[in-house]
Amino acid sequence: MTLWQNLSNQITQASGECFTLKNYRGAGGGCINEAAVLEGKDGRSFFVKLNRPDLKDMFAAEAEGLQALGEPGEIRVPTPLCHGITDGRSYLIMEHIPLGGPRNSRAFGEQLARLHQHTQPRHGWHRDNTIGSTPQINTWSDDWVHFWREHRLGYQLGRAHDQGAGRTLVEAVEQLMASLPAFFTNYRPQASVLHGDLWGGNHDSDAQGNPVIFDPAVYYGDRETDVAMTELFGGCDRDFYAAYDATWPRDPGYGVRKDLYNLYHLLNHFNLFGGGYAGQSERLARRLLAEVKG
Ligand code: ADP
Repeated sequence: MTLWQNLSNQITQASGECFTLKNYRGAGGGCINEAAVLEGKDGRSFFVKLNRPDLKDMFAAEAEGLQALGEPGEIRVPTPLCHGITDGRSYLIMEHIPLGGPRNSRAFGEQLARLHQHTQPRHGWHRDNTIGSTPQINTWSDDWVHFWREHRLGYQLGRAHDQGAGRTLVEAVEQLMASLPAFFTNYRPQASVLHGDLWGGNHDSDAQGNPVIFDPAVYYGDRETDVAMTELFGGCDRDFYAAYDATWPRDPGYGVRKDLYNLYHLLNHFNLFGGGYAGQSERLARRLLAEVKG
């Protein structure tokens, strides 16, 4: 049996309805995984992500993340169907949502803010997951500053150090980590459910123009981290931020903290792709240090 037939059998089992494959096509894939769309003779279609078998936990965590984002019912998220290993590949099968419909920034801003209103008492999540292919540590914590220092900046910095990051970068980020409380003098963030990796490539619209988010790195934490990432690689317009703030205004300190939050993603980019991200991370860390020293 081919991989595609095996995947079709998984769909039949998980959905409880016989799925007979009519057609499959490669969907190009994103930064990390291979992807395909499976179309059934009954008109159902599924989006499949494939990778090496040792990465099966990454897909298990992604499935739980999609579930956690979809459950509040605030914003459209592909519903995960099943995941596992077949034919020597790990896979994740989810609802296929034809994307590329008309953008509605206002709806996206409002729906993201409403999603963020789903909170928990602690920061973290019940399991670790990945950001890109880098492990993301989600050990629960009552203390957001501790969480951001240890499990976000500190973890990425440790990996960067192991990958030969220069001394000046390591020192700048270490100094920043020691200065973290200064960014939170009048601000105690709630622990919101977060997408966790909300760059422009991870949100779109369905055919009707409803916002859709996918490929998450879910945990509970400061909602400003999600909003900050929408600014990191472009992707959202003024209407989005206006609608977000009209639903749940951001704190005035966001303008400084957004760089602190995006440093995590820049360090991760250094760890994943190397190159100029080291310089960019170091400049950002030094700018933040200057800001805090006044
Ligand atoms: P990766 O984890 O490799 O980065 P993504 O989950 O970002 O992969 O998916 C790659 C691309 O496939 C996305 O940019 C998006 O355009 C499309 N895509 C992702 N999920 C779905 C889905 N459920 N239905 C339709 N298209 C999807």
